[in-house]
Amino acid sequence: MNDYYTDLGVAREATPEEIKKAYRKKARQLHPDVNPGAEAEAEFKRVSQAYDVLGDPAKRASYDRGQDPYGGATGGFGQGFTFSDIMDAFFGGTAAGARGPRSRTQRGHDALIRLDIDLPTAAFGGEQTLQIDTAVVCSTCSGAGAQPGSGTRTCDVCSGRGEVQQVQRSFLGQVMTSRPCQACRGFGDVIEHPCFDCSGEGRVRTRRDLTLKVPGGVDTGTRIALQGEGEVGPYGGEPGDLYVEIQVEPHDVFTRRGDDLHCTLEVPMTAAALGATLPVETLDGPVEVDLRPGTQPGQTVPLAGKGISHLRGEGRGDLVVHLDVKVPTRLNDTQRDLLAQLAESRGESSPTGRMGAAGGVGRKHSLWDALRGR
Ligand SMILES: [Zn+2]
Ligand SMILES: [Zn+2]
Repeated sequence: MNDYYTDLGVAREATPEEIKKAYRKKARQLHPDVNPGAEAEAEFKRVSQAYDVLGDPAKRASYDRGQDPYGGATGGFGQGFTFSDIMDAFFGGTAAGARGPRSRTQRGHDALIRLDIDLPTAAFGGEQTLQIDTAVVCSTCSGAGAQPGSGTRTCDVCSGRGEVQQVQRSFLGQVMTSRPCQACRGFGDVIEHPCFDCSGEGRVRTRRDLTLKVPGGVDTGTRIALQGEGEVGPYGGEPGDLYVEIQVEPHDVFTRRGDDLHCTLEVPMTAAALGATLPVETLDGPVEVDLRPGTQPGQTVPLAGKGISHLRGEGRGDLVVHLDVKVPTRLNDTQRDLLAQLAESRGESSPTGRMGAAGGVGRKHSLWDALRGR
């Protein structure tokens, strides 16, 4: 009696997966293209025979009880030996499990659309109506693909198996291979009268409106997933998902950085010197900002909680107001006299200025420029 376990190099308690793996490994090593010669070919036949027995649970069980389906003879293949696994091992064909007619029904594709929203919607969230074009189930045939009242008939080319077998000559003699039936595209049956509305695919494209709840805090690039709102699959297959990619339109006044907003506020020189209360527009409406006397150019006033909602967690970012102190450029005679008097009283009639490193001013500027540039 042949010792098939030794031929494959596996233990007697090896799992079916281990047996398959061991066989594939040996089959690759012994393939006549890799390893020519009568010896390798004989060895190849031996391990293939061993696999034919051990790879089949019923044959393996009877072999374990002492019955060898080959009756001790080596080299001759019995009836019903399938070569699918040999073909798999060499040609990377389909897994042995994927045989027989395939299902018409398939899951549909995911869909992606872009949605432009304005900054207030990004800040607070809101409902948006989307128009989407996707495949939906054909209402005429309810996804079956056949005209109402008609059906399918078994494919007469493959007799419903979905695959046709072919005999090929090989170094092992004649080998049976199978490939999907072209007449029925592997389905095993044929739709006799395809539905006119969907050309027999069971789905049609339509445009529909969808209401999307945009959460506060989204930013450009945020994707919102809507389960099952993508393309319906052929023949009533489960729909894919719809992804909505957010694009936030730039705002005239506010620049976003993370969940903070930034803006500039022009302040007259006199207001900066004397202090003032100025109105500021925010996304929440107007508020008032108090400037201390002696406010300097480039100073910022943070307005806590007036920025963008945090997408995850509570609360909101800030609105940072950058003060832009304006020096008057046109003065009438009275104003010039007043400023001259001010200069004199401050001992600044012949100013000398005070030298300092450029770092301070320059740094502030470049920070702000960087914010605006984003
Ligand atoms: Zn239809
Ligand atoms: Zn067929």
